[in-house]
Amino acid sequence: MWEKVLRILWAPWRIDYIEKAKSGEKEPCFLCESWNGIDKDKLVVYRGKQSMIIMNKYPYNSGHVMICPKTHTAEISEISLEERIEIFELLELSIEALREAIKPHGFNIGINLGKIAGAGLEDHIHIHVVPRWAGDTNFMFVTGNSKVIVEDILNTTRKIKEKLYAIIEEKIKNKEYSRKK
Ligand SMILES: [Zn+2]
Repeated sequence: MWEKVLRILWAPWRIDYIEKAKSGEKEPCFLCESWNGIDKDKLVVYRGKQSMIIMNKYPYNSGHVMICPKTHTAEISEISLEERIEIFELLELSIEALREAIKPHGFNIGINLGKIAGAGLEDHIHIHVVPRWAGDTNFMFVTGNSKVIVEDILNTTRKIKEKLYAIIEEKIKNKEYSRKK
């Protein structure tokens, strides 16, 4: 259902990603790499104690973030209690920060479990947070060069990341965050 809803959004820059996935190239897990500080595209928004918020390089929509546990696992049952708690805190923070930063009208939030359900990265579980605006399914993008689109999207994504990071830092500093560290 979730994947069906998202498929309506036209996101042609994802072709790069889809083609890479189809080629069957086994790449190292980029969520683990990002957690360990290898953040090639500068997409990590916030690294918590056990979980993190990272921008999606191939977003379904502007401001598409993912929240994942530190543990490299495909199974919900293998996520630790600490990770579960922090994942929900980061989910709350992401929603608040996205609302302030880019003012979406709503969100699609979900997990694709297994390839058949649309998981592109099936070995490391992650929650998608996709901002939605009224009329965004009518969005049209006209160009024949997917590389240009990916570069463009990456720039936008990095700009949104900077905004989110600033908002989240401020919230944590002001203890507006439910955890009240
Ligand atoms: Zn991983």
